[in-house]
Amino acid sequence: MKGFEYLQEELDHMKEEGTFRKLVPLESEQGSKVVINGKEVIQLSSNNYLGLTSHPKMKEAALKAVEEFGVGTGSVRTIAGTLSMHEEFEKKLAEFKHTEACLVFQSGFSTNQGILSAILTDQDVVISDELNHASIIDGIRLTKAKRRIYKHVDLEDLEAALKETQEFRKRIVVTDGVFSMDGNIAPLPGIVELAEKYDALVMVDDAHASGVLGTNGRGTIDHFNLNGRVHIQVGTLSKAIGVLGGYIASTQTLRDYLIHKGRPFLFSTSHPPAVIAASSAAIDVLEEEPEHMERLWENTKFFKAGLKELGFNTGVSETPITPVLVGDDALAHKLSDTLLKYGVFAQGIAFPTVAKGKARVRTIVTAQHTKEELQAALDAFEKAGKELNII
Ligand code: PMP
Repeated sequence: MKGFEYLQEELDHMKEEGTFRKLVPLESEQGSKVVINGKEVIQLSSNNYLGLTSHPKMKEAALKAVEEFGVGTGSVRTIAGTLSMHEEFEKKLAEFKHTEACLVFQSGFSTNQGILSAILTDQDVVISDELNHASIIDGIRLTKAKRRIYKHVDLEDLEAALKETQEFRKRIVVTDGVFSMDGNIAPLPGIVELAEKYDALVMVDDAHASGVLGTNGRGTIDHFNLNGRVHIQVGTLSKAIGVLGGYIASTQTLRDYLIHKGRPFLFSTSHPPAVIAASSAAIDVLEEEPEHMERLWENTKFFKAGLKELGFNTGVSETPITPVLVGDDALAHKLSDTLLKYGVFAQGIAFPTVAKGKARVRTIVTAQHTKEELQAALDAFEKAGKELNII
């Protein structure tokens, strides 16, 4: 069919410069090893931090929910799509996060998209870290609020932003808890102190910290002992929790308000029973089986140290997300392809996901990896890195 030649031209250009990507279908269950093109390879690209995508207790909960409640809900939450299990799960999650209330959205992405546009008007300001996730950036695009982007984790620039905007009705400081591309942790104690000094709200997107940091994986707020001092915690059910979805953990007022004004919540069908039941079981697993998080951190330390020893530039990472920085977009994809040849699946990440000149292969270890698998992955990195003159 004719009509998309202008898009095809751009795609052809991407093919020429080596940045065109194909989706990589997995032919197996998610895990420390996966099957790609009929070959078993070590998985270093998933957000399945604790290996919960295949946890038996969660599978069992999901199957039981399907048996009892079917596969779908047939409606948005505000019409006929709220099952008692949605509300029970939200209460449980709020308790886990030490907040008053919680509200589940369809995804982490739609949570960030929905919240800022719902609670801010042109009388307000959103003050956002320059490396915040795309869903926060899109959420900001949807508000009529004034935007002020501050330099990455720069508290001086954040203070300047707070000083500049004192005449507005509300200011909200927004940051990722753990930055998804570099794996560094936001300086939350400093951010919260400044927000309190200048009477601003704080919102933290803890997508990559829930299940990873804090007591039993409660996230960065708990990690820094800031419970009760962060107004909005955003999380996902899609990463360490191993299923799908997003949520806010905050006050009852915010929950009630978003039920009325959060557009992705209002206009999109609610989660199927299996998703909620499995997510709920995941919270039990976090509370009852701390060994997964312990393994995750042991593996993180081992793998990060190994990459550094080989001479790779791993940037400022402090978490299981470890980037291998190479700079050039095409080289990042080349490294990824070479690693796959040697049995390791680690995706190249290039512009526009990261800035030009900051391309990388991003690795994420999980609790499921064995030491042998991680050592084999390091050996593959050594071979590929030498072959491409990166180390
Ligand atoms: N926030 C951050 C920081 C993320 O990394 C992601 C996932 N890429 C999201 C939000 C979106 O979450 P989800 O995949 O649940 O939509």
